[in-house]
Amino acid sequence: MYVAKGKSVSEGVALGRIKLYKAPVYEINDNEIEDAASETDRFMTALDKAIHVQMALYDVTLAAAGDESAEIFKVHAMMLEDYVLRDAVIEIITEQKKSAEYAVNEAFNAQAEVFSLMDDPYMQARSEDIHDIKRAVLDVLFGIDQSSFKETEPTILVADELTPSETVKLDKTLLLGIITGGGSPDSHTAILARSMNIPAIIQCKEIDESWDGRIAIIDGYNSCVYVEPTDDMIESYSKKMQEDVEKYNLLKELKGRDSATADGRTIRICANIGGVSDIESVKDNDADGIGLFRTEFIYLESEAYPTEEEQFKAYKYVVESLAPKQVIIRTCDIGADKIAKYMNLEPEENPALGYRGIRICLTRRDFFKTQLRAILRASAYGNLGIMFPMIISLKELEEARQILDECKEEFIREGVKIGEYQVGIMIETPAAVLCAEELAKHCDFFSIGTNDLTQYTLALDRQNANLEPFLDTHHPAVLKAIGMTIEAGHRHNTWVGICGELGSDLSLTETFLRMGVDELSVNPKSVLPVRKVIRGLDLG
Ligand code: PEP
Ligand code: MG
Repeated sequence: MYVAKGKSVSEGVALGRIKLYKAPVYEINDNEIEDAASETDRFMTALDKAIHVQMALYDVTLAAAGDESAEIFKVHAMMLEDYVLRDAVIEIITEQKKSAEYAVNEAFNAQAEVFSLMDDPYMQARSEDIHDIKRAVLDVLFGIDQSSFKETEPTILVADELTPSETVKLDKTLLLGIITGGGSPDSHTAILARSMNIPAIIQCKEIDESWDGRIAIIDGYNSCVYVEPTDDMIESYSKKMQEDVEKYNLLKELKGRDSATADGRTIRICANIGGVSDIESVKDNDADGIGLFRTEFIYLESEAYPTEEEQFKAYKYVVESLAPKQVIIRTCDIGADKIAKYMNLEPEENPALGYRGIRICLTRRDFFKTQLRAILRASAYGNLGIMFPMIISLKELEEARQILDECKEEFIREGVKIGEYQVGIMIETPAAVLCAEELAKHCDFFSIGTNDLTQYTLALDRQNANLEPFLDTHHPAVLKAIGMTIEAGHRHNTWVGICGELGSDLSLTETFLRMGVDELSVNPKSVLPVRKVIRGLDLG
C-alpha cells in the first residue's frame, strides 16, 4: 500500500480503479506565416466555435448540476468575447506574422500571468480559467474532439491538471473521485467537484504514472490517497461510504425545510466556522446563519498580526456570502491553547485561567481596535453580530462596547459606511451566568459556550484527556447554568443561543428547546441531523 497526501477540496470517500488522464499536448511552433488575413479568419472562426462549445457546456451543466455550477461556462463564453484578449491575439498574428495557435498561446498565457500575480486568491484562481478557455480555442484549431474524453467504467481520475471544461465533460455516473497534482481550492474544478458531490484531492505531489489501473481509496476527510489499500481498509472505508450515503439522503430530504417542531416552535440552527473556507459547507448544509465565527484562526494562520484590510476582506466575504442571514463574528479569543508566536504571550502556570480572549483585547487595544474596525466595515455588507468572548463582568462588557463605539465614531467622522449590527457576549464562565441578569440589559444576544462553561463550572481542564472519566457533559450544574442564562436573557429581551459542542448533542435537543433556546449553532455537518430531531419533536 502507498499513502499520498494532498489537499481535500471536496469531502467524502471514493474507492475504485485509477485512470490516469493526460491532457492533449499542442505542438506549437513560432514559424512565420505568409497570409495574416486568412490566419486571422481562422482564429475568428475557432473563437466563435469555442464560444458555442462553452454555451453548450453551460446547458449540459445547468441540467446536470444546476445554475451555480453552470455559471462558469457563461463566464468563459464572456471572457472569450472580450475584445482586449481577441485584439491581443490578432496583433500577434498581424504584427509578428505568427500562426493563430502561437498567437492564442502567447496572448492567453500573458493574461493568465496577470491574474496569477494578483494578491486576491480568488483572482489568482481565475488564471486557471484563462488557461481553460485557451485550451478551448486550441482544441478547435487543432481539431481535437474533447467529447471523446470519457471513461467507460467507474473511475478515480488522476491528472496533473484538470480544467472545469474537462471536469464537466466527465461522465458523472462513472466518476468516483478526482486527484490532481495542481489546482487551487477556489478553482472552479474544485467548486464543480463539490457540487457534483465527488471526493477530490488537489496538490497531490506524489502522483505517479505507475498508479494507472491500480485500486485506490480517496479519503476526502483527511486529504489522503491510499493506492492498493489493504483488505481491512477497503472494508472500513466501504462502511464509511455507506454511512455517507445515509447522511446524503438525510441532507436531500431536509434541505430547505424549517427547523420547527410538530407543534410549531421554530428555532434557528446556525453553523460554527473557523474561516472563509467553511462557507461552502455552511451553505451545503442549509444553516440558518453563522452563530460563531472563531476569528482567532485568522490570527493563528498568520505569521504576523493580520492587518485591518486582510481581516476586512475575510469578514466581508463571509457576511456577503450569507446575507441576509446573520453572521456572528466573535472577536479574537486567543490565549490558553491557542497561541500565536508573534503575540509574545508569556508562558503561564494555568493558561486556561490566564491571559486570554477579552483580557488580551482590553489590554492590547491597538490590536483589538484593528479587528473591530475590520468587523464594523464588514457590517455594511450584510447582517452582522459582534460577540465578545470570556466576559466575566459588566465592567468588561462596558469597556469592550466603549472601544467598539470609539471605532464607530471614527468611521462616522471619516464618512466610512457601516451597517446595523447586534452586540452580544459569550456566556462561558459561572461568573457570567450569575451576572446574566445585569449583562442581558446591555446585550442584544447571549451565546452559551458550553465547552468553556463546562470546563469552568466543573473545574475540569478541557485539554486534559486523563480527566475524561470525571467529565459528565450532562452534569446538572451545567444544564442548570444554561437554563438560568436563557431565563435571564429572555427577561430582558435578549435572545439566547448555544454555540458550544453540546448544541449538537442530539440527546439534549429537546431539553434545550424546552428551556426556550432561540438558536443552536453547531458544526455545519450537524445542522441537518439537529433539524431532523427538532422536526420529530412535539413539545405540546
Ligand atoms: C465554547 O467555549 O463553548 C466555545 C464555543 O468557544 P471555544 O470552543 O472556541 O472556546
Ligand atoms: Mg470558549
